[in-house]
Amino acid sequence: MRKIAIYGKGGIGKSTTTQNTVAGLAEMGKKIMVVGCDPKADSTRLLLGGLAQKTVLDTLREEGEDVVFDDIVKPGYGNTSCTESGGPEPGVGCAGRGIITSINMLEQLGAYDEDKALDYAFYDVLGDVVCGGFAMPIRDGKAEEIYIVVSGEMMAMYAANNICKGIVKFAQAGAVRLGGLICNSRLVDNERQMIEELAKKLGTQMIHFVPRDNMVQKAEIHRKTVIEYAPEHPQADEYRTLARKIHENQLFVVPTPLEIEELEGLLIEFGILN
Ligand code: ADP
Ligand code: MG
Repeated sequence: MRKIAIYGKGGIGKSTTTQNTVAGLAEMGKKIMVVGCDPKADSTRLLLGGLAQKTVLDTLREEGEDVVFDDIVKPGYGNTSCTESGGPEPGVGCAGRGIITSINMLEQLGAYDEDKALDYAFYDVLGDVVCGGFAMPIRDGKAEEIYIVVSGEMMAMYAANNICKGIVKFAQAGAVRLGGLICNSRLVDNERQMIEELAKKLGTQMIHFVPRDNMVQKAEIHRKTVIEYAPEHPQADEYRTLARKIHENQLFVVPTPLEIEELEGLLIEFGILN
């Protein structure tokens, strides 16, 4: 089983890209579990056709320790297994801890056991890895392969670089490696070239450039991935391509994060700050 975590700045398109990629892998006949690690609990909405009824933490709060597998893992598009860790009540407690509790619970309930015959587990993780809890999937070896969703916008690149710093830290003790950057376009000038260059400087690759397309939002309103909602649309093929590239990926590295000056230099060089 390959254990993949998707990181990136909030709102960059992690959940959308993860679910569409997972739909692409499911079409290839792969068995996948998606673990939402964001208190928003919207990491599986497009695969389930609506928000998960209850998160792992909600269920734990209500049922105590008597949680059964089917309470927290729901079947979604393409024979996927979908679960959301959820979060503490707003303003109370640490959301990162919730992820730890949830993953432990999933393990206890046998979600990763051989009989589940998983080819992939995907973790869709909120924001930065600055808080220890959100680093949990990579810190404890729950995820070994990281993809960072990024765009040509400065803050997205800044976050990607920060995430790389986190990976470096945890790579020393564990098996975690960076598999690449996924550029989710925000229609920034020279975006493709700039993210390719950023990837090169980080010692990794831009594994795919996902165009910006309104079909993504249209499918989202209908609570579906593009692959399910508009399978013939060119955007569906972009996600199929990304799924295939991830499936065939061989390049796993410990990244080399940039100094802030170098990052700014990249933006200047590619004309964003002119
Ligand atoms: P995150 O999980 O990183 O917070 P989301 O996946 O929820 O971000 O995406 C934020 C918004 O951006 C969503 O409304 C989604 O439909 C939109 N979006 C993501 N990727 C694309 C794209 N390639 N083209 C158009 N809209 C996109
Ligand atoms: Mg999300």
